[in-house]
Amino acid sequence: MKVLKFGGTSVANPQNINKVKNIVQDLGQEKAAVVVSAFGGITDLLLDTSHLASLQDPTYTESLKTIEERHLAAVKELIPIQVQSTVLSKIKSDLNVLETLLEGAYLIGELTPKLSDKIVSFGELLSAYIIGEYFKSEGLDATFKDSRELIITDSNYGKANVDFSSTTKNCNQFFKENPCQITVLPGFVSSSGTGDNTTLGRGGSDYTAAIVAAAQNSEFLEIWTDVNGMYTANPKLVKQAKAVPHISYEEAMELSHFGAKVLYPPTIQPILGKEIPIAIKNTFDPENPGTIISKNDNGNGKTVRGISHVGNISLLSLEGPGMIGIPGISKRFFETLSLNNISIVLITQASSEHSICVGVADEDVEIAAEAVNETFAYEMQNRKIKPAIVERDLTIVALVGDNMKSHQGLSGKMFSTLGKNNVNIRAIAQGASERNISAVIKKEDVKKALNSLHETFFEENIKQLNLFVMGVGNVGSKFLEQIHQQRKYLKKELKLNLRVIGISNSRTMVFDENGISLKDWQNQLGKGEKADKQTFFDTVKSLNYRNSVFVDNTANNEVAQSYPDYLKNNISVVTCNKIACSSDYDFYKNLKSLSKQFNAPFLFETNVGAGLPIIDTLKHLIASGDKVKKIQAVLSGSLNFVFNTFNDSVTFHDVVKQAQEQGYTEPDPTIDLSGVDVMRKILILARESGYELDIDDIENESFLPKESLETNSNEAFFESLIKYEDDFQKLYKQAADQDCKLKYVAQFEEGKTKVGLQKIPKGHDFYNLEGSDNIVLFFTERYPNQPLIVKGAGAGADVTASGIFADIIRIGNF
Ligand code: ADP
Ligand code: ASP
Ligand code: MG
Repeated sequence: MKVLKFGGTSVANPQNINKVKNIVQDLGQEKAAVVVSAFGGITDLLLDTSHLASLQDPTYTESLKTIEERHLAAVKELIPIQVQSTVLSKIKSDLNVLETLLEGAYLIGELTPKLSDKIVSFGELLSAYIIGEYFKSEGLDATFKDSRELIITDSNYGKANVDFSSTTKNCNQFFKENPCQITVLPGFVSSSGTGDNTTLGRGGSDYTAAIVAAAQNSEFLEIWTDVNGMYTANPKLVKQAKAVPHISYEEAMELSHFGAKVLYPPTIQPILGKEIPIAIKNTFDPENPGTIISKNDNGNGKTVRGISHVGNISLLSLEGPGMIGIPGISKRFFETLSLNNISIVLITQASSEHSICVGVADEDVEIAAEAVNETFAYEMQNRKIKPAIVERDLTIVALVGDNMKSHQGLSGKMFSTLGKNNVNIRAIAQGASERNISAVIKKEDVKKALNSLHETFFEENIKQLNLFVMGVGNVGSKFLEQIHQQRKYLKKELKLNLRVIGISNSRTMVFDENGISLKDWQNQLGKGEKADKQTFFDTVKSLNYRNSVFVDNTANNEVAQSYPDYLKNNISVVTCNKIACSSDYDFYKNLKSLSKQFNAPFLFETNVGAGLPIIDTLKHLIASGDKVKKIQAVLSGSLNFVFNTFNDSVTFHDVVKQAQEQGYTEPDPTIDLSGVDVMRKILILARESGYELDIDDIENESFLPKESLETNSNEAFFESLIKYEDDFQKLYKQAADQDCKLKYVAQFEEGKTKVGLQKIPKGHDFYNLEGSDNIVLFFTERYPNQPLIVKGAGAGADVTASGIFADIIRIGNF
């Protein structure tokens, strides 16, 4: 005989119940027990309704009505008219009993565990009866059997303990005499030795099916649900999770104990000794092989088989000098918890015996703490032991796998993954079987922890980077375009999966946890909500994704001021905005130290020389022990373009205009033309070389007339350029007469920094600098005479975007 169990979603509505029928029909002539859950959501509804009634809230009748309507509608849709009235009258009479019970709770204003069990059992009783009748009406040789007559328990209402010997006897007798091919049984419900209605605990229909399978020595147990088996992690939280084709009983038990809801934890226990295999299958994709749970097959040598988590956990710790070396403390501690019916999910004890710490359900911790304080009242009075310490709202994440014991380094890998992602670990435990390693973390870090662990242990080294992009002007939009084009290559060759989750410009912002389609991001951004920098940050923070990167493509000061917030939350920052690194030295220094402290890279390669690897080169020199003596550089792609294009046959105004239109200048061209931009760049290089410097320490002799410098709009600025055209022509002529070219040069030497326009003679490294190119000469201890030179295109949206891209890839390899 085979046992099949269909969960709440599988029987949520007539359409799904029809799918269930098809699966059962495909059994052919094989004998089967079909265990069903309540229609999806009904158990919760029954519990809520009875709670309302017990609070004497008259609105309980409204939710009762919803319950009634769902069942009556199902009957009307599933059962043919000719037989409908009999079925309807049975359902109505059951619903009347339910109504009376709820009325009782309402009138007395109380809900005993015994009454609650009686009420909640209606979910399974009604669904199984309706499904049985539907099967019959479809020509199946089916019958309904009330599981309360088979499964006998103690009177521990809400989660009763099964009396296996009476239950097995009952099952054997029933199935021996039952001539029908299909028996439909309500899951979850049972009865006590005294005949009262009990239940097997939330999710207990799986257990019902396992109990019947064990009693009947079935050759197979099938659990039909709404996913393709047991996954490497909860598929609702980890999108990359995959169904595991085969796992052992012990692994399944461990995963379900630590929260893999797809299987109710006690399910394995009755069938373990009999080695009945379990298949977890998807009612909505019956062809999918699902997961087979059976005896250990060595897991194909795989170590970690799944990651699960269980929430609503509190830690309860007892500590104090009076615990060291005193026998019996642990015994008294655990006895106290056991006497108070507190179930312990996890235990840790430091080897110094100075403390014991257990994980229990949030809802139990208060009683547990009170009880422990009472037990150790004497020691606490004498200050030998401190009052119990409680920490709430935690979650346990567990790595599970039979083969973990024979592999070193797994826990190291687990903890370093969590550490890198700034997930604080409150306690750890490893089962003696070494089949699981668990860590207790904060509730808000769960998704991040699960996803980063999943990435480490299951995703073939593919690393996902979650990008939040602010600013989509010239550079920002090019950057998005480049990601769009390169994504496949990055995944295949660099094992990096880039996902843009948030985009904002100054008007609107948009978020999509599945990744914004880069084909039509403009459209989605246009339809987004009103942009707000604080809300943008709050969203990135609350999404709490691992490997989150904030990309700043703006030139905005307020945005730069928000970097500390991002870094403190373990969110990397990549920026082409120079403000942060070139403003106050303490601010810059603080960003660098936050980056270290919170494991969040802070990269700004494009601050100097757009996509050229200038800062990266400098970093490598310093990291390898070199020391910078002098830097000479032409660092303004814009000024270089301007002075390379400007001559006596064009006006200075037109050249600057052209530079602006081609994206070679900042949106405000005075920043470039005044030399401020170059000052910022050389400042950054000096700081990165290890010198403490501020912008005021830099000498700048501007070639622009004072009036142009003091304009306060782009228009006024351009007008002033027309006015002073003669002066600019003079500058050109002076240089041309000496066979020199004009270059705007930045220099740093022995702590002194200056920038300004210089006449560069033929033969100098700077003389032949083309278009918007940049050049940097590093004179260091290792390169004292012949400098290390970095040269190439140093401005333009394209190269800047690719520089940002390069920083993102650096983070990927971090
Ligand atoms: P049913 O009503 O069929 O008993 P459940 O809701 O009890 O279904 O269990 C199935 C759900 O368990 C899935 O929809 C999934 O969200 C959740 N789940 C949690 N962890 C896992 C896991 N590791 N593998 C598969 N499903 C999981
Ligand atoms: N209906 C019960 C519950 O929701 C039992 C089950 O579905 O397994 O907990
Ligand atoms: Mg379930």
